[in-house]
Amino acid sequence: MTNRVLLLFILAAGCISVSSFVRETPVPKKKKVINTIVIDPGHGGSDAGAMGQYSTEKEICLAVSLKLGALIRNEFPDLNILFTRETDTYPELHDRAKFANENKGDLYLCVHVNAAGGRRKAELIGYKTVTYYTGKGASRKKRTKRVPQYRYTNLPSEAKGTETYIWGAHRSEDKELAIIENAPMLREENFEKNYGNIDVNSPEFIAISLLKTKQYFKRSATLAGFIQDEFVKVGRVDRDVRQRGIGIWVLQATAMPSVLVETGFISNPDEEQYLNSNEGQEELSACIVRALKNYIAWLEQRQNGTGQEPPAQGYSSNLSFLQQVAAAEKHRHP
Ligand SMILES: [Zn+2]
Repeated sequence: MTNRVLLLFILAAGCISVSSFVRETPVPKKKKVINTIVIDPGHGGSDAGAMGQYSTEKEICLAVSLKLGALIRNEFPDLNILFTRETDTYPELHDRAKFANENKGDLYLCVHVNAAGGRRKAELIGYKTVTYYTGKGASRKKRTKRVPQYRYTNLPSEAKGTETYIWGAHRSEDKELAIIENAPMLREENFEKNYGNIDVNSPEFIAISLLKTKQYFKRSATLAGFIQDEFVKVGRVDRDVRQRGIGIWVLQATAMPSVLVETGFISNPDEEQYLNSNEGQEELSACIVRALKNYIAWLEQRQNGTGQEPPAQGYSSNLSFLQQVAAAEKHRHP
Protein backbone atom coordinates (compact mmCIF):
# COMPACT_ATOMS: atom_id res chain seq x y z
CA MET A 1 0.00 0.00 0.00
CA THR A 2 2.65 2.47 1.06
CA ASN A 3 4.79 1.45 -1.89
CA ARG A 4 1.87 2.01 -4.22
CA VAL A 5 1.27 5.51 -2.80
CA LEU A 6 4.96 6.23 -3.15
CA LEU A 7 4.88 4.98 -6.75
CA LEU A 8 1.86 7.17 -7.52
CA PHE A 9 3.61 10.10 -5.90
CA ILE A 10 6.74 9.54 -8.00
CA LEU A 11 4.65 9.16 -11.16
CA ALA A 12 2.69 12.34 -10.37
CA ALA A 13 5.88 14.27 -9.60
CA GLY A 14 7.34 13.01 -12.84
CA CYS A 15 4.27 14.16 -14.77
CA ILE A 16 4.43 17.62 -13.20
CA SER A 17 8.10 18.04 -13.94
CA VAL A 18 7.63 16.80 -17.50
CA SER A 19 4.69 19.14 -18.08
CA SER A 20 6.52 22.07 -16.56
CA PHE A 21 9.51 21.20 -18.70
CA VAL A 22 7.25 21.18 -21.75
CA ARG A 23 5.72 24.49 -20.76
CA GLU A 24 9.10 26.12 -20.23
CA THR A 25 10.63 24.91 -23.47
CA PRO A 26 10.81 28.06 -25.60
CA VAL A 27 8.78 27.90 -28.78
CA PRO A 28 11.19 28.65 -31.64
CA LYS A 29 10.56 32.33 -32.38
CA LYS A 30 10.07 33.54 -35.89
CA LYS A 31 12.60 36.12 -36.93
CA LYS A 32 10.87 39.46 -37.18
CA VAL A 33 10.48 40.46 -40.80
CA ILE A 34 10.38 44.15 -39.92
CA ASN A 35 11.86 46.03 -36.99
CA THR A 36 11.90 49.71 -37.85
CA ILE A 37 9.47 51.81 -39.86
CA VAL A 38 10.37 55.37 -40.77
CA ILE A 39 7.41 57.66 -41.39
CA ASP A 40 8.14 60.78 -43.40
CA PRO A 41 5.49 63.50 -43.32
CA GLY A 42 6.05 65.44 -46.55
CA HIS A 43 7.22 69.06 -46.66
CA GLY A 44 7.07 71.15 -43.45
CA GLY A 45 8.42 74.43 -42.09
CA SER A 46 9.01 76.97 -44.83
CA ASP A 47 7.88 74.43 -47.43
CA ALA A 48 4.09 74.31 -47.25
CA GLY A 49 3.71 71.96 -50.21
CA ALA A 50 0.46 72.19 -52.13
CA MET A 51 -2.09 74.76 -51.04
CA GLY A 52 -5.81 74.26 -50.70
CA GLN A 53 -8.50 76.84 -50.09
CA TYR A 54 -7.89 76.90 -46.36
CA SER A 55 -5.19 74.36 -45.55
CA THR A 56 -1.71 73.31 -46.61
CA GLU A 57 -0.20 70.01 -47.59
CA LYS A 58 2.41 70.10 -44.81
CA GLU A 59 -0.27 70.27 -42.09
CA ILE A 60 -2.24 67.34 -43.49
CA CYS A 61 0.91 65.26 -44.03
CA LEU A 62 1.90 65.73 -40.40
CA ALA A 63 -1.56 65.06 -38.98
CA VAL A 64 -2.04 61.85 -41.02
CA SER A 65 1.51 60.68 -40.25
CA LEU A 66 1.11 61.12 -36.49
CA LYS A 67 -2.22 59.26 -36.53
CA LEU A 68 -0.66 56.55 -38.65
CA GLY A 69 2.30 56.20 -36.26
CA ALA A 70 -0.01 55.91 -33.25
CA LEU A 71 -2.13 53.27 -35.00
CA ILE A 72 0.92 51.22 -35.98
CA ARG A 73 2.21 51.39 -32.39
CA ASN A 74 -1.15 50.12 -31.24
CA GLU A 75 -1.26 47.23 -33.70
CA PHE A 76 2.43 46.32 -33.59
CA PRO A 77 3.84 47.26 -30.17
CA ASP A 78 7.14 45.53 -31.04
CA LEU A 79 7.88 47.77 -33.97
CA ASN A 80 10.17 50.73 -33.72
CA ILE A 81 8.40 53.74 -35.25
CA LEU A 82 10.48 56.75 -36.18
CA PHE A 83 9.43 60.08 -37.69
CA THR A 84 11.54 62.34 -39.88
CA ARG A 85 9.60 65.22 -38.33
CA GLU A 86 6.98 65.45 -35.59
CA THR A 87 6.46 69.19 -35.71
CA ASP A 88 6.25 71.90 -38.34
CA THR A 89 9.89 71.79 -39.42
CA TYR A 90 11.61 71.10 -42.71
CA PRO A 91 14.37 68.49 -42.42
CA GLU A 92 16.31 68.56 -45.67
CA LEU A 93 15.52 65.60 -47.91
CA HIS A 94 19.15 64.51 -47.67
CA ASP A 95 18.84 64.36 -43.88
CA ARG A 96 15.53 62.51 -44.02
CA ALA A 97 17.09 59.76 -46.13
CA LYS A 98 20.23 59.72 -43.98
CA PHE A 99 18.12 59.45 -40.82
CA ALA A 100 16.23 56.48 -42.27
CA ASN A 101 19.42 54.74 -43.43
CA GLU A 102 21.33 55.34 -40.19
CA ASN A 103 18.46 53.94 -38.17
CA LYS A 104 18.41 50.89 -40.42
CA GLY A 105 14.80 51.33 -41.40
CA ASP A 106 13.07 48.34 -42.93
CA LEU A 107 10.40 50.45 -44.51
CA TYR A 108 10.08 54.09 -45.50
CA LEU A 109 6.57 55.55 -45.65
CA CYS A 110 6.18 59.01 -47.17
CA VAL A 111 2.87 60.76 -46.67
CA HIS A 112 1.93 63.47 -49.18
CA VAL A 113 -1.08 65.28 -50.56
CA ASN A 114 -1.75 65.75 -54.25
CA ALA A 115 -2.84 68.83 -56.20
CA ALA A 116 -4.07 69.39 -59.72
CA GLY A 117 -4.53 72.59 -61.66
CA GLY A 118 -8.08 73.92 -61.90
CA ARG A 119 -10.14 74.11 -65.07
CA ARG A 120 -10.78 77.38 -66.89
CA LYS A 121 -14.36 77.82 -67.98
CA ALA A 122 -15.10 80.22 -70.90
CA GLU A 123 -18.48 81.97 -71.09
CA LEU A 124 -19.59 84.06 -74.09
CA ILE A 125 -20.61 87.52 -72.84
CA GLY A 126 -20.98 89.43 -76.15
CA TYR A 127 -19.16 90.74 -79.21
CA LYS A 128 -16.78 93.61 -79.78
CA THR A 129 -16.13 95.34 -83.11
CA VAL A 130 -12.46 95.65 -83.94
CA THR A 131 -10.79 97.51 -86.79
CA TYR A 132 -8.10 96.01 -88.98
CA TYR A 133 -6.48 96.81 -92.33
CA THR A 134 -5.77 94.75 -95.44
CA GLY A 135 -3.54 95.48 -98.47
CA LYS A 136 -0.73 97.98 -98.89
CA GLY A 137 -0.34 101.53 -100.18
CA ALA A 138 -3.31 102.74 -102.28
CA SER A 139 -5.17 99.43 -101.94
CA ARG A 140 -4.97 99.57 -98.20
CA LYS A 141 -8.48 99.18 -96.81
CA LYS A 142 -9.94 99.67 -93.41
CA ARG A 143 -12.16 96.81 -92.29
CA THR A 144 -14.05 95.84 -89.18
CA LYS A 145 -15.04 92.56 -87.71
CA ARG A 146 -17.00 91.26 -84.73
CA VAL A 147 -15.00 89.37 -82.19
CA PRO A 148 -16.62 87.22 -79.49
CA GLN A 149 -15.90 88.24 -75.92
CA TYR A 150 -15.50 85.63 -73.18
CA ARG A 151 -15.44 85.75 -69.45
CA TYR A 152 -13.14 83.14 -67.86
CA THR A 153 -13.70 81.60 -64.48
CA ASN A 154 -11.32 79.29 -62.69
CA LEU A 155 -13.07 76.21 -61.41
CA PRO A 156 -11.44 74.00 -58.82
CA SER A 157 -9.95 70.76 -60.10
CA GLU A 158 -12.17 67.70 -60.03
CA ALA A 159 -9.24 65.31 -59.71
CA LYS A 160 -9.59 63.11 -56.66
CA GLY A 161 -8.41 59.87 -55.12
CA THR A 162 -5.23 58.32 -53.86
CA GLU A 163 -2.18 57.00 -55.62
CA THR A 164 0.90 55.33 -54.24
CA TYR A 165 4.31 55.87 -55.75
CA ILE A 166 7.38 53.71 -55.73
CA TRP A 167 10.73 54.60 -57.14
CA GLY A 168 11.36 53.48 -60.67
CA ALA A 169 13.57 54.52 -63.51
CA HIS A 170 11.25 53.58 -66.35
CA ARG A 171 8.80 56.37 -66.50
CA SER A 172 9.21 60.00 -67.29
CA GLU A 173 5.61 61.16 -67.72
CA ASP A 174 5.51 62.22 -64.11
CA LYS A 175 8.41 64.56 -64.54
CA GLU A 176 6.31 67.64 -63.94
CA LEU A 177 4.99 66.44 -60.60
CA ALA A 178 8.39 65.13 -59.61
CA ILE A 179 9.97 68.50 -60.24
CA ILE A 180 7.34 70.11 -58.03
CA GLU A 181 8.01 67.58 -55.28
CA ASN A 182 11.75 68.06 -55.49
CA ALA A 183 11.71 71.83 -55.84
CA PRO A 184 12.50 72.38 -52.14
CA MET A 185 15.54 70.15 -52.50
CA LEU A 186 16.94 72.48 -55.14
CA ARG A 187 16.79 75.34 -52.66
CA GLU A 188 18.81 73.55 -50.01
CA GLU A 189 22.34 74.62 -49.25
CA ASN A 190 25.19 72.37 -50.41
CA PHE A 191 22.97 70.83 -53.04
CA GLU A 192 25.94 69.70 -55.13
CA LYS A 193 27.79 68.37 -52.10
CA ASN A 194 24.85 66.39 -50.80
CA TYR A 195 23.44 65.05 -54.01
CA GLY A 196 26.41 65.18 -56.30
CA ASN A 197 26.22 66.42 -59.82
CA ILE A 198 23.33 64.12 -60.69
CA ASP A 199 22.05 64.07 -64.18
CA VAL A 200 18.92 62.04 -63.55
CA ASN A 201 18.61 61.36 -67.27
CA SER A 202 22.10 59.91 -67.67
CA PRO A 203 22.34 56.19 -68.51
CA GLU A 204 24.70 55.71 -65.53
CA PHE A 205 22.21 57.15 -63.12
CA ILE A 206 19.40 55.10 -64.58
CA ALA A 207 21.54 51.94 -64.41
CA ILE A 208 22.46 52.53 -60.77
CA SER A 209 18.89 53.32 -59.91
CA LEU A 210 17.69 50.18 -61.65
CA LEU A 211 20.08 47.98 -59.71
CA LYS A 212 19.18 49.55 -56.43
CA THR A 213 15.53 49.60 -57.27
CA LYS A 214 15.36 45.92 -58.13
CA GLN A 215 16.58 45.05 -54.66
CA TYR A 216 13.60 46.66 -53.00
CA PHE A 217 11.31 46.98 -55.94
CA LYS A 218 9.22 43.92 -55.33
CA ARG A 219 8.61 44.75 -51.69
CA SER A 220 7.77 48.36 -52.41
CA ALA A 221 5.44 47.39 -55.25
CA THR A 222 3.74 44.76 -53.12
CA LEU A 223 3.13 47.12 -50.23
CA ALA A 224 1.97 49.87 -52.60
CA GLY A 225 -0.52 47.41 -54.15
CA PHE A 226 -1.82 46.43 -50.73
CA ILE A 227 -2.22 50.10 -49.78
CA GLN A 228 -4.21 50.92 -52.91
CA ASP A 229 -6.35 47.81 -52.39
CA GLU A 230 -7.28 49.02 -48.91
CA PHE A 231 -8.15 52.49 -50.20
CA VAL A 232 -10.44 50.93 -52.79
CA LYS A 233 -12.21 48.94 -50.07
CA VAL A 234 -13.25 52.14 -48.26
CA GLY A 235 -14.39 53.73 -51.50
CA ARG A 236 -11.50 56.04 -52.32
CA VAL A 237 -10.96 56.67 -56.00
CA ASP A 238 -8.11 54.39 -57.04
CA ARG A 239 -5.40 56.11 -59.06
CA ASP A 240 -3.26 52.99 -58.78
CA VAL A 241 0.37 52.28 -58.02
CA ARG A 242 2.71 54.43 -60.04
CA GLN A 243 6.37 54.61 -60.64
CA ARG A 244 8.29 57.78 -60.63
CA GLY A 245 11.19 57.70 -62.99
CA ILE A 246 12.53 61.06 -62.05
CA GLY A 247 12.44 62.83 -58.76
CA ILE A 248 11.18 61.79 -55.34
CA TRP A 249 14.74 61.73 -54.28
CA VAL A 250 14.01 60.17 -50.88
CA LEU A 251 12.48 57.09 -52.50
CA GLN A 252 15.71 56.13 -54.23
CA ALA A 253 18.04 57.48 -51.51
CA THR A 254 16.62 55.22 -48.83
CA ALA A 255 18.22 51.79 -48.72
CA MET A 256 14.99 50.02 -47.91
CA PRO A 257 11.60 49.41 -49.50
CA SER A 258 9.89 52.76 -49.75
CA VAL A 259 6.53 54.07 -50.85
CA LEU A 260 5.02 57.52 -51.17
CA VAL A 261 1.31 57.80 -50.60
CA GLU A 262 -0.52 60.72 -52.21
CA THR A 263 -3.47 60.60 -49.84
CA GLY A 264 -5.82 62.85 -51.82
CA PHE A 265 -6.26 66.11 -53.71
CA ILE A 266 -6.11 69.29 -51.69
CA SER A 267 -7.12 71.13 -54.89
CA ASN A 268 -10.54 69.47 -54.82
CA PRO A 269 -12.78 71.16 -52.18
CA ASP A 270 -14.49 67.88 -51.17
CA GLU A 271 -11.17 66.14 -50.80
CA GLU A 272 -9.65 69.06 -48.91
CA GLN A 273 -12.45 68.70 -46.38
CA TYR A 274 -11.90 64.93 -46.17
CA LEU A 275 -8.14 65.32 -45.78
CA ASN A 276 -8.59 67.82 -42.94
CA SER A 277 -11.28 65.84 -41.11
CA ASN A 278 -10.52 63.56 -38.22
CA GLU A 279 -12.57 60.79 -39.86
CA GLY A 280 -10.71 61.17 -43.14
CA GLN A 281 -7.31 61.13 -41.51
CA GLU A 282 -8.22 58.09 -39.44
CA GLU A 283 -9.63 56.25 -42.42
CA LEU A 284 -6.46 56.90 -44.43
CA SER A 285 -4.24 55.77 -41.54
CA ALA A 286 -6.33 52.65 -40.92
CA CYS A 287 -6.05 51.70 -44.61
CA ILE A 288 -2.26 51.98 -44.50
CA VAL A 289 -2.12 49.92 -41.28
CA ARG A 290 -4.26 47.14 -42.79
CA ALA A 291 -2.00 47.15 -45.84
CA LEU A 292 1.01 46.95 -43.54
CA LYS A 293 -0.54 43.91 -41.83
CA ASN A 294 -0.92 42.20 -45.21
CA TYR A 295 2.61 43.16 -46.13
CA ILE A 296 4.06 41.71 -42.92
CA ALA A 297 2.04 38.51 -43.44
CA TRP A 298 3.36 38.33 -47.00
CA LEU A 299 6.94 38.75 -45.79
CA GLU A 300 6.44 36.05 -43.14
CA GLN A 301 5.04 33.74 -45.77
CA ARG A 302 8.18 34.25 -47.84
CA GLN A 303 10.38 33.82 -44.79
CA ASN A 304 8.72 30.50 -44.01
CA GLY A 305 10.14 29.30 -47.26
CA THR A 306 6.86 28.45 -48.88
CA GLY A 307 8.19 30.41 -51.81
CA GLN A 308 4.59 31.23 -52.58
CA GLU A 309 3.63 34.60 -53.84
CA PRO A 310 0.74 36.15 -51.97
CA PRO A 311 -2.68 35.19 -53.31
CA ALA A 312 -3.74 37.08 -56.41
CA GLN A 313 -6.82 38.19 -54.54
CA GLY A 314 -6.33 41.68 -53.19
CA TYR A 315 -3.20 41.90 -55.22
CA SER A 316 -4.58 42.28 -58.69
CA SER A 317 -3.80 45.94 -59.34
CA ASN A 318 -0.29 45.26 -58.22
CA LEU A 319 0.13 42.22 -60.43
CA SER A 320 -0.92 43.98 -63.59
CA PHE A 321 1.39 46.78 -62.59
CA LEU A 322 4.32 44.38 -62.25
CA GLN A 323 3.52 42.90 -65.64
CA GLN A 324 3.56 46.35 -67.14
CA VAL A 325 6.91 47.03 -65.58
CA ALA A 326 8.30 43.74 -66.83
CA ALA A 327 7.10 44.62 -70.32
CA ALA A 328 8.60 48.08 -70.08
CA GLU A 329 11.91 46.58 -69.00
CA LYS A 330 11.93 44.13 -71.88
CA HIS A 331 11.29 47.02 -74.18
CA ARG A 332 14.18 48.98 -72.73
CA HIS A 333 16.63 46.06 -72.82
CA PRO A 334 15.69 43.90 -75.80
ZN1 LIG B 1 4.11 66.67 -51.63
